[in-house]
Amino acid sequence: MIIYQKIYQSQLNQNITIIRDDLYPSLGGGNKGRKIDSIGQEILDNSYKAVVTTGGIQSNHCRATAVFCAQHHLQCTLVLHGDKDKFLKESGNAKIMRMSGANIIFVDQPIDIGPTMDQAMCKYKDIGLKPYYLWGGGHNLQGGKAYIDAVQQLNSEVLIDYLFVACGTGSTQAGIMAGLSQKNMPCKVIGISVARNQQSAQEHVSNFYNKLCESFSIQRQHETIVLDDYLCGGYEQYNDELKKLSDDSIRDYGFALDTTYSGKAFLGMQQYIFKHNLQGNIVFWHTGGIFNFLA
Ligand SMILES: *Cc1c(COP(=O)(O)O)cnc(C)c1O
Repeated sequence: MIIYQKIYQSQLNQNITIIRDDLYPSLGGGNKGRKIDSIGQEILDNSYKAVVTTGGIQSNHCRATAVFCAQHHLQCTLVLHGDKDKFLKESGNAKIMRMSGANIIFVDQPIDIGPTMDQAMCKYKDIGLKPYYLWGGGHNLQGGKAYIDAVQQLNSEVLIDYLFVACGTGSTQAGIMAGLSQKNMPCKVIGISVARNQQSAQEHVSNFYNKLCESFSIQRQHETIVLDDYLCGGYEQYNDELKKLSDDSIRDYGFALDTTYSGKAFLGMQQYIFKHNLQGNIVFWHTGGIFNFLA
């Protein structure tokens, strides 16, 4: 299901089509809901009985995974990094994870994540529960395929010259690019990095786009573009301008733009349109983030 909303940006004199994937209908929505539904198919088809994954204390991915596991009676271990006291107090994704029944393990250092996930995998194997190892962010082929499939569902009346999307692990952007290639829609896909510098982000997206195209026999035709001008200092960092955009988002557009993902991408899009005086059909793929916004 794809929901569209048109907005008018008077400062830019531009109409923009918003793809409201923040309203994706299951697992709390957003791109992590869409990815986990696709990954979940592989989990169920192959009779896995447990899932081990990782993320931060407000991880959309861990929230969607925990809800999926609860719904399907799978064991779930979340290896979380960040402040445990905050996790126990905060609302948003943290609250949903706490209520999901998932087994939650905290690590102090990012370097401890891998070994802790490996241990959790072993524990499940030891008790005869076949565990599924899930990379942070739902970054795997099935997660990317969710977006190839989503693009196939786009209404053919929606014209796209430029498509903007937040870029973290890059599987959403790469999946959209692969989907557009499959559909033979030669537009510009512009990722706004939320964490990585341009070179590293473009490498990640490009490699994953290649992998998706190879795996699903798609002819590559999109250039990889990721911008890092709007990082505001890095992951989860923001400045006054981004804070204001986020605070005003409900009033201005009727949807939430969080400061970690969708707000950053939206601000990047606005500034890019302004800087390059972009004309044509502009689409913003809203990836979600309502629970970060509400935390
Ligand atoms: C994870 C996330 C992203 C980034 O998606 P990737 O596929 O990792 O690039 C963007 N927006 C929201 C709301 C997210 O949770």
